[in-house]
Amino acid sequence: MSVKLTILGSGSSGNCAYLETDSARVLIDAGFSPRQIRQRLATVGRAPENLSAILITHEHSDHICGLLGLADKLQIPVFCNRETQAATIWTFKTKWSSRKRPALNGFDGDDTVKSKIDWRIFSTGDAFELDDLLVEAFSVPHDAQDPVGFLLRTAAGNIGFVTDLGHMTKLVVERVRPVNVLVLESNHDIKMLQDSRRSWALKQRILGRHGHLSNVAAAEAAAQIMSAELRHLYLAHLSRECNRPEIAQHVMAEQLHHIGAKHVQLQLTSQDVPCETLGI
Ligand SMILES: [Zn+2]
Ligand SMILES: [Zn+2]
Repeated sequence: MSVKLTILGSGSSGNCAYLETDSARVLIDAGFSPRQIRQRLATVGRAPENLSAILITHEHSDHICGLLGLADKLQIPVFCNRETQAATIWTFKTKWSSRKRPALNGFDGDDTVKSKIDWRIFSTGDAFELDDLLVEAFSVPHDAQDPVGFLLRTAAGNIGFVTDLGHMTKLVVERVRPVNVLVLESNHDIKMLQDSRRSWALKQRILGRHGHLSNVAAAEAAAQIMSAELRHLYLAHLSRECNRPEIAQHVMAEQLHHIGAKHVQLQLTSQDVPCETLGI
């Protein structure tokens, strides 16, 4: 069985990954414009028309801003939980009015957005089949309505997506322990965030229990999740203003060295360009 993962982009301003198995072609989040997603998929010889599903972690715009344009036009099934669906509809309706975004013309009411998309609702904590994938959605602590992480089980290996969480919980550690590939948030350097010009309120939000994982917190989380089976670790959702790729990489590399995890291949993700495709 062939399984390929391409992080199309990850950072505070947009997140989207593409996973392909023998029968599934899935996006995990759609946090770039439809045009950007099309361009990035083209780098691996794919197009949105090929997609079989879009999985959504939560309703923040860096995870859904391309969703409506892709899912409506191409009738791609969208998998999310009920709270995320409601919050996504609300976001499209209120924040991105049709005046601000011409692409949203025709999406004037809740019912329109709701009926135009092929929603597939799951319950957080449940597992469900999606072609030849088994998807497990689990709760993460983040300031959205019902944010989730995903464990995607394939015949070739298990892939975990854990971005957007204020702290690591026992539940998350347990749920992603079977991973062979982990996409883990390493959002900010605490000192850079504290020294930044961001408002006090925003700093508190990011640093809070429902905000984002710092580089140090990500390193501690990786140590908790570590197993002999974890082979590939992506550092994801880096803040452009409050982090540097080399700092995030250094902090995690030190931790991996400290715990003797020599078998793990560490890789940075970028907001601007897709990562090289990983064959699993
Ligand atoms: Zn978020
Ligand atoms: Zn995010």
